[in-house]
Amino acid sequence: MSIIKLHDLYFKPYINKDEIAATVKHLANQVQRELPQDEVPIFVGILNGCFLFAADFIREYHGNCEVSFVKLSSYNGTSSTENVKQLVGINEDLTGRTVIILEDIIDTGNTLQQIYNIFRNKNLKQLKVATLFFKPDVFKKELPIDYIGKSIEDKFIVGYGLDYNSLGRNYSTIYQLTTPPKMKNIVLFGPPGAGKGTQAEFLKEMYNLVHISTGDVFRFNIKNATDLGLLAKKYMDEGDLVPDEVTINMLKAEVEKNPKANGFIFDGFPRTQSQAEALDDFLAEKGEQINGMVALEVPEDILVTRLLERGKTSGRTDDTDEAKIRNRFNEYNTKTAILKDYFEEQNKYYGVNGVGSIADITKRIAEVFDKL
Ligand code: AMP
Repeated sequence: MSIIKLHDLYFKPYINKDEIAATVKHLANQVQRELPQDEVPIFVGILNGCFLFAADFIREYHGNCEVSFVKLSSYNGTSSTENVKQLVGINEDLTGRTVIILEDIIDTGNTLQQIYNIFRNKNLKQLKVATLFFKPDVFKKELPIDYIGKSIEDKFIVGYGLDYNSLGRNYSTIYQLTTPPKMKNIVLFGPPGAGKGTQAEFLKEMYNLVHISTGDVFRFNIKNATDLGLLAKKYMDEGDLVPDEVTINMLKAEVEKNPKANGFIFDGFPRTQSQAEALDDFLAEKGEQINGMVALEVPEDILVTRLLERGKTSGRTDDTDEAKIRNRFNEYNTKTAILKDYFEEQNKYYGVNGVGSIADITKRIAEVFDKL
């Protein structure tokens, strides 16, 4: 999940679609349990926001029922300043019926007040109100709300039918208003030996970013014989990837160490699909995002030569043995290379030719960084 932009505002993920589905199902079950078995209620959805909620709710309601939708529209004509609304869409006779209002969200209660006023003189058997979301902190009325899916804090939300100036209704997650992102976060990507570490050293100075190399953090831990280091060593020595959970927690801790950062250059992370998803979620919680993935593209034979050369001086055991190097490429090709698609789908992939002098390649990358 990433943050989204609608018109001029940014929103971050707030309630995921599984939680929404569970909440809707629970509401439908609750309503059903409290109605007499032979009762055929009329569900009345208040448009527009309720259309997804109503559709899902009704599918979870397993007794016989009728469904109708209404819209509240301001009176045209005389005193448009007055906040009085009329109901558009109910034509059937509701005398003696059980009507259950389906609302996506109740905040101040003004709309709910209108609904009670309008249905009061329709000779119903009973009127009940079910709302998916409720904002207790801003609700100002003495009106009954019979069924509440989830009480939420008073922040503007969009998604799952709810909009901000008409946009955002089509998202299956609920998003919450957030401040505009402040950071520039870049994934520096490429196979082992592509030059990510070398380039990051220049780029972090040029753009005042914090460089996090997960490989370096692991090596630091190995040198200091920490628990993390001992655990990582057996994977690294073979050229295997360290398990995701370990790596993800370590990465998060590294980010948290730099609360004032302008942004980060992630080098060697993410290396798997679940690392990429975890990074998106983690940044989105902070109202931040990955601006782009910059990938250094270098043919494999050049890479092997470079790594063996580096192994002569780097002291890295995983750089000296060609079989282990091959295994690192195998890990890269089977688990990491797919991340190109992951970022391409989000229009965030930028390939850069990684063959040439260090300075030339820095210049090529900088051209991309400047755009992000
Ligand atoms: P690097 O310095 O980026 O070439 O990483 C060296 C080794 O550290 C890799 O071969 C892995 O064993 C481990 N490693 C570094 N980053 C990650 C990661 N994101 N996920 C799993 N293992 C990693």
